[in-house]
Amino acid sequence: MPSGKVHLTVELALLPGWVAAGALIGLPRPHLTAFALSYTCAALLLSPDLDLARSAPASRWGPLRLLWAPYARLFRHRGLSHSLFWGPLTRLLYLGGLALLVLLPLHFWLGAPLPQAFPARILLPLLTGVYLSHLVHVGLDGVWTQMARRLPNR
Ligand SMILES: [Zn+2]
Repeated sequence: MPSGKVHLTVELALLPGWVAAGALIGLPRPHLTAFALSYTCAALLLSPDLDLARSAPASRWGPLRLLWAPYARLFRHRGLSHSLFWGPLTRLLYLGGLALLVLLPLHFWLGAPLPQAFPARILLPLLTGVYLSHLVHVGLDGVWTQMARRLPNR
């Protein structure tokens, strides 16, 4: 398995290419910006390797890394968390659930306003950023595993 540093380096190195490809096919600048921000945040903070109790992505959360301990207990390493479709969805729903645990009591007890929904037009670029970062991670995991199998016994 590549280290967290290798994953992050490859994912961030590909970002300018993704943005250039998006510009080439004529995506508007706000969409490219939303995509680049979500891709970067996903690479840094929503890695599939949050399914490990101790990992570089979990440590990037600082003291909040404890919030991901239940996620690491729920999902075995390289299981559903690394699924091409379900993986990012598990982390987004988990994060949404955590946000609700904080926001709903604040809303009902203190009258704090709930956040407004994302404008629908930037939802697709945001999700594309999260999913593309995930696909690069899982692809690199796969390439790394294939290379390790082909190497002679170490
Ligand atoms: Zn992984």
